[in-house]
Amino acid sequence: MQYSPEEINNIDKQKIRKIYELLPQSNCGLCGFLLCSKFARAVVEGNISPFGCRLKPWAGYKACEVMGLDVPLFGYTSRTSLLPMLGDNPTFEELRDLLGEDP
Ligand code: SF4
Repeated sequence: MQYSPEEINNIDKQKIRKIYELLPQSNCGLCGFLLCSKFARAVVEGNISPFGCRLKPWAGYKACEVMGLDVPLFGYTSRTSLLPMLGDNPTFEELRDLLGEDP
């Protein structure tokens, strides 16, 4: 199946929107982009890691799903049987509180 340039553009816009919705949307600039939307676009364009949000790096896992990328769950899988309690998209603060440490 081949996509037209317009179809590719629409797919990219959908991915950017979905990734943007995963982010804190605080536009803090800590990732190097002044706006979360710019960060989301850079992720879709492959110019920055999906885990690059400094306020919510865990959103990277969901962002990888949006991008169709397989990413193993590093580190926390062996000691986080409580993670399902947090839902699909835990915040940094929720993880820190649950684990009792800075992840
Ligand atoms: S670090 Fe996260 S919250 Fe801050 S601007 Fe970048 S994407 Fe947005």
